[in-house]
Amino acid sequence: RNLKWQMECRSDIYRLNAQFLSIYESLIPPEEEKAKQKQLLTLLEKLVCKEWPEARLYLYGSCANSFGVSKSDIDVCLAIGDADINKSEVLLKLADILQSDNLQNVQALTRARVPIVKLMDPVTGISCDICINNLLAVVNTKLLRDYAGIDVRLRQLAFIVKHWAKSRGVNETYQGTLSSYAYVLMCIHFLQQRKPAILPCLQGMRATYSVTVDDKKCAFFDQVENLCDFGNRNRETIAQLVWGFFNYWAYGHDYTSSVISVRTGSVISKLEKDWTRRVGNDRHLICIEDPFETSHDLGRVVDKFSIKVLREEFERAADIMHFAPNPCVKLFEPY
Ligand code: ATP
Ligand code: MG
Repeated sequence: RNLKWQMECRSDIYRLNAQFLSIYESLIPPEEEKAKQKQLLTLLEKLVCKEWPEARLYLYGSCANSFGVSKSDIDVCLAIGDADINKSEVLLKLADILQSDNLQNVQALTRARVPIVKLMDPVTGISCDICINNLLAVVNTKLLRDYAGIDVRLRQLAFIVKHWAKSRGVNETYQGTLSSYAYVLMCIHFLQQRKPAILPCLQGMRATYSVTVDDKKCAFFDQVENLCDFGNRNRETIAQLVWGFFNYWAYGHDYTSSVISVRTGSVISKLEKDWTRRVGNDRHLICIEDPFETSHDLGRVVDKFSIKVLREEFERAADIMHFAPNPCVKLFEPY
């Protein structure tokens, strides 16, 4: 179908590629934004060190996984060695310290699913969320960043998919659609599955990086500078991959029995994971395995209403890529 699409449906493939690339480029954060993020992190390190000299701060999420678009907030993890600390107490103390240093809108959200302190730095204009001891997020951030270093088409595809999801209102976990993290995993998995593959399976290779976090061993090959010609045998361009991605999620994926797994670089069965029925509020209507917390389905937030919304959006996007005269406009039209 891919070839047919190129030859017959889309004689404008060159123009389409150029348009997707220019959207991608317009979304890349400028260098001065990165510098401001560093500046804020340095300030936070200074303040935190006074109170907790042993603690460390790590960036995670889109500001560190290379899938962040311009003007994103930053996510910071405060790592305090002691596992027995009372997170709420630490967060309240932290909020106090930040407030007295003139940071603005400081708020401790101690009852959230992931408890955080929120703040805004008036000097750089950047907003920031700080969580405590969420080291798995720091490690999965590294995995995503390492994948991005292998083939630039991952970053291109993920930027387009995230931009589409935000424009179409399907990037809201509290409304039962998917997180940015889930969309990036879907992109990685999709590129692992291309023939020939564009991405390898880093967790299936000899481990050159290994840490144990919350009793979970996280190990993978991270010398990705040695893999930069991995995808060269596959010549697919961004427009073809965007088409293929939406076509897979609209018409190719088996929602009844399949789980996508970046950890194994393959599709595995719901049966094998025991994800065949609803348990409490966790449904398994679209299954995306977390690469490290393997009992964790990132699709569990999706309910029977939002799965319909999602699948209709995938179909809409696939059909636009197939037939619409101007996909680069139509795809991102606000819902
Ligand atoms: P955005 O550009 O939308 O802010 P983001 O990359 O920061 O994107 P989020 O979905 O906000 O994505 O998640 C931030 C980080 O938190 C992710 O990169 C990941 O490390 C971690 N994370 C988010 N959701 C989960 C989850 N369900 N399980 C494990 N880690 C998660
Ligand atoms: Mg974020």
